[in-house]
Amino acid sequence: MRTLILSDIHSNWEALTAVIDDATERGGFDRIWCLGDIVGYGPDPGLCISLLRQHNAQAVAGNHDVVAVGKASSADFNYAAKAAIEWTSNNLSAEDNRYLSGLPTVITAEPFTLVHGTLRDHVNEYLLERDSALATLERLETRYCAVGHTHLPFICREDGGAISFIEFAEEQAYPLGEERLIINPGCVGQPRDRNPRPSYAIYDDEANNVLRHRVEYRIQDTQEKMRDAQMPEYLIDRLNHGI
Ligand code: ZN
Repeated sequence: MRTLILSDIHSNWEALTAVIDDATERGGFDRIWCLGDIVGYGPDPGLCISLLRQHNAQAVAGNHDVVAVGKASSADFNYAAKAAIEWTSNNLSAEDNRYLSGLPTVITAEPFTLVHGTLRDHVNEYLLERDSALATLERLETRYCAVGHTHLPFICREDGGAISFIEFAEEQAYPLGEERLIINPGCVGQPRDRNPRPSYAIYDDEANNVLRHRVEYRIQDTQEKMRDAQMPEYLIDRLNHGI
């Protein structure tokens, strides 16, 4: 079985469809795991939700998803994120609102656990260094964990007692073994590793590996819709730079 692992779509429908098309061309997939932040920043929350539901994606909630439906406050968001999430809240259908409101914050999908942030703080904490990685591994009941939120791809391995962050290199299958791992597939809708191309991973349980890919998308189409929605220019421009 091949699983398409996605994170941080952020209402970017052009990026999401480019990823799904690319994964389809590269051998296809049987199911989708989505690591949260389906909405926020981008112009197409409804289309992204529909597409995920069409594929029966298993999805956890991210910090933008819970704020969009009023389950958490936007007090910690910067002005641009706040403006975009207010626009999102006002442009969600009742059905989309119900869908986002019903998302769990953690899913066990053997041999992975799926969460947006960390297992210590499911939606808000960034897993970027040893402390948050340790806190997650302490709580991890499956062998592997998949997280999003930072918009940066990585593999974090626990080797004996040591923890190391290594590059989740593109187009290089990473074999899954005994060692416990936390992986981040990178970001679909607003990459922040100075590369504007959407990033995603495929978990193949027969080959027993994870493989990361990137893909081009029609970035100007997304930006035009963001302009029409009067999103902050900063959010529109950053898509060009992958920041
Ligand atoms: Zn995000």
